[in-house]
This record gives sequence, structure tokens and C-alpha cells, in this order.
Amino acid sequence: MNTNKIDLGFFPTPLQKLENLSQIYPDYNIYIKRDDNTGLASGGNKTRKLEFLIQQALDKGCDTVITAGAQQSNHCRQTAAACAKVGLKCHLLLGGDQPDLYDGNLLLSSLLGATIHFTGKNRKGEDKELLKEKLENEGNRCFMIPYGGSNSVGALGFVHAVKELKQQITEKQMEIDYIFFASSSGGMQAGLTVGKELYGLSSELIPISIDKDETNGSSLEEAVFNIVKELMQKLSINKKIELSEIKLNRDYDNAGYGVLTSHEINAIEELAKKEGILLDPVYTGRAFYGMLDFLRKKKLPLNSTILFWHTGGLPALFKFGKELRSES
Ligand SMILES: *Cc1c(COP(=O)(O)O)cnc(C)c1O
Repeated sequence: MNTNKIDLGFFPTPLQKLENLSQIYPDYNIYIKRDDNTGLASGGNKTRKLEFLIQQALDKGCDTVITAGAQQSNHCRQTAAACAKVGLKCHLLLGGDQPDLYDGNLLLSSLLGATIHFTGKNRKGEDKELLKEKLENEGNRCFMIPYGGSNSVGALGFVHAVKELKQQITEKQMEIDYIFFASSSGGMQAGLTVGKELYGLSSELIPISIDKDETNGSSLEEAVFNIVKELMQKLSINKKIELSEIKLNRDYDNAGYGVLTSHEINAIEELAKKEGILLDPVYTGRAFYGMLDFLRKKKLPLNSTILFWHTGGLPALFKFGKELRSES
């Protein structure tokens, strides 16, 4: 399998101990992996996937990238930045109608030179094929990136990330017992699952579901499972894996995608005020709340070492000023 990648970000991202938080929850040692600092136009976890996806686009001789997402999509913003860097045209299909004011990720995607198509009720890239046909008729060679960059090529970024983490913990002579992160389109979870196998990382993954809705009639577990199977085959890993082995924690996604509740707000405020680190309202705020809930209720063995994998999303904070400041 072609596992070439292009350099788009700052790696390795820092692995840091959250000293203040570890004092507040003295039964645990708490660390953070700073993928909010991957570098691509304010960072985030999609940079890792795009290193492999954009390489594939270039290998195929494409000149145009098409992808889809929400208006505040971090994936679309990082895709726009990656395309700008390597000189590809970028077309984004974003759900909903064109707003009067561009802010957050939408503002950045536009500044980064992407052509933006507002797709109304079609929120998950349903219009991709039509756009591709149109652009190809105009003489462009198009490369499609799936929702969230989640296929077996994008997920390679997180297989690679496990190697990076393994190196860091070896240097620090430490072990990590549990890894919390926000899981949404499944590419990160699939990559970490396979990376764990490939590099012998013993940590248990605790992916926190962000979006309670199903995509295309299949569950997130199934989506992760399918990418894992494909990846294992491509990387010649001879291990049988069952759907039931793909774990996903769904205890925190009840409010629905992108809905900010007091849970996320309190989690964002706690990390900001105790450690000076900003979470985002949609993904990491929710996943971090889930982790704090585990710690407060002592659901994990005492003295465990816990890692929160920060996946970025900062620009969306600026979209939520009203919700964030009306509480306090
Ligand atoms: C996309 C994203 C995730 C989820 O990653 P998936 O691979 O789509 O599951 C988590 N956090 C942030 C900030 C994201 O942008």
C-alpha cells in the first residue's frame, strides 16, 4: 500500500502533564496530547489525515479537491489550508444557507481561498457527485475527500500518530492507561485502533460519541469497523477483529450535535481557568466533560494515568460567544 505522506503540520505535537488538574483529581495522573497545535491554520486532528489524503490527490494528478461538512467544519477549514499550501483548488460543500456574516471556521475557509457551495438541507455531502461532474466537464481533475476525511487513507494519519505517542511515552518512561477523545466520523478512532495493534500500545481507548445521529443508516461503530478492516488488510495485519470490539461511549451525546449545554460550558471553563488551554464547543468540550465525569465518579481504577487527546476546533468557539457568556 502507498503510505507516502506530505508534511503539512507540526509534529510531534506536545504531550504534557496537566499538573493543576491532576491536583484537583488527585486519584489520577492526567496528560494531554496537543493536536490543537498541529499548525494547519489553527490546527486540529484533520491535519494528520490530510497529510495522507492530499498526497494521494497529488499522486493521482488531481488539481481540485472536493469535500463536505458543516459550516463550522474544522475538517473543511484544514482542507482549505492544505490545498492552499500545495496549490490545489478547493471546493467545499457546506450544509445550510449562506449566512449574512462569515465567522469561525467558515470565515477561515473562505479566507484560505476555498470555493464555498451552500447546500441547504443536504448536510452530508449528498451533492458531491453532481459538483464533481460539473467541475470535470470544465476540465478539472477532481479528488474527493469523504466527510471528516474518514477513510482508510485518512485514518493512516492516526496509525502514524500512535507511533509518535509511543515514542513520547517511551522517552518519558511512562505508560498511559486510558485515552479519551471525541469520535465523530470515525477516522481517528479507526486509526488509533489499528495503530495500537501495530505498535503494541497497551492503553485502552475511550472514544466519546459527539453526534447521536447515524450517518447513511449505519452506526459510528460500523463505520469505524469498516475502516479498521480495510486498514488491517492494507497494512497486512493478520488479526481477526469483531464489530463488538469497537467500543464507543454514548453517555454524553444526548443534546445532539453542536448543541452546547452547561456540561460542555463547565468543562471548557475548567480547562481554560486551571490550565490555560482552550477547548472547542462541539467536540473537545463534550469529550472533556465525559472524561471529567469518569474522574469525578471514579469510574476508572485509582492511580490510573489518563490521556486526553485534544483534537482542536478553536475557531468554532468564536461562534458561541452568546452561549458561553450568558451562563456566568
Ligand atoms: C473531526 C473532529 C473530531 C472527530 O474526529 P473523527 O475522525 O471525525 O471521528 C474531533 N474533534 C475535532 C475538533 C474535530 O474537528
